[in-house]
Amino acid sequence: MSFSANICFERIFPQLIPLNEKLTQFRGFISALGEEFEVMLHLENGNLQLQGSWRLQQLLKPCHEAVVQSLKQSPELNIFLLELKDLLEKQLRQTKLRREILLPPPQYYSALLSHIAQSGWDKVEYVDPDLNTLHLRAKDENGRLHILQLHLPREYPKKPPVCSADLPEDFVFKWLTTSSLQDILEQFQTKLCFFQDFWMCMDEIDSSCWVLEPEKPRRKDCKRRLVLATNGSVQISVNPQCHRSIPECQFLGAERVIGPFRDNFNQNLEKWDVNSTILTNLKIVLDVKFPSPCSSNKEDYVVECGICYSFRLNDALPDKSCNNSHCSQLFHVECLIEWLRSVSTTTQSFSILFGECPYCDMVSHCCYWCSS
Ligand SMILES: [Zn+2]
Ligand SMILES: [Zn+2]
Repeated sequence: MSFSANICFERIFPQLIPLNEKLTQFRGFISALGEEFEVMLHLENGNLQLQGSWRLQQLLKPCHEAVVQSLKQSPELNIFLLELKDLLEKQLRQTKLRREILLPPPQYYSALLSHIAQSGWDKVEYVDPDLNTLHLRAKDENGRLHILQLHLPREYPKKPPVCSADLPEDFVFKWLTTSSLQDILEQFQTKLCFFQDFWMCMDEIDSSCWVLEPEKPRRKDCKRRLVLATNGSVQISVNPQCHRSIPECQFLGAERVIGPFRDNFNQNLEKWDVNSTILTNLKIVLDVKFPSPCSSNKEDYVVECGICYSFRLNDALPDKSCNNSHCSQLFHVECLIEWLRSVSTTTQSFSILFGECPYCDMVSHCCYWCSS
């Protein structure tokens, strides 16, 4: 495809100056939507080379194919330049639109910066480069550090930020169009006050017992699975709103180990005293001396599954034990079901699988249920 510059070129692009008499080199500017873009044009053997400023290159990057196509197909330089101008204007419009959609208005930034200054920059744990996400620090009255995560909408401060924190319940706060970060922090502090005693009770458990689950308790976690003895644990579910009342208790492990604890729990419920901590009550009601991290090894209570030889499997612990009290081997439910299904002598009645324990000979004593 041959290229030529014709005479009306100067009228359409007055800012492009020919650099030679043959009209094969030009230098100057193309304007699009009121913005000027520097270009260099070089015609050689009917081919055109186009060089432009960094900004021009960035703008044309997404439509590179269209520029190449136009370079190939335009019979004359001015037609190509007109098409280039069109493409540029289209890209400029799109960029402007994107900026309007993505970036908040200036008042967003002025309000946010003044609100941060009001609360104190020392409260800021993290802020993302776009100033949309903010992590604020707060200390409770017992010196625990808490992080409040805020995601700010474009309409901030007219619309409230979306907040999340490591709390046992959602952090709900009041927001007016005149509110600021300081108002949220004050409400957050009140919320932290509310949970002080709950966290004190949970901290006491975490420091005095072997906690099998969660592996690393967070402030929001209301459940703990505590070692009672080898092959036996209890999972307590505490209601953070009335944490000193009797928690839901689930006993897990070998029946011969957990049976007596379950019986104690049912018989001693009236001994539960809401003025005592959860741990103190559990000790009395279960009649247990919890194995302590100070005087025992956790490994002694981490009983592996008798099939896969691991403790944690897809977040599940070995919960199912052989019904033979002389065996009491623990298994993951998932492992046990897979094992029983692979054995030809296993029978099934509704959702219950009956089969042999992989560990002991007492076939008649080994029956298991599965939920699937
Ligand atoms: Zn297993
Ligand atoms: Zn067994």
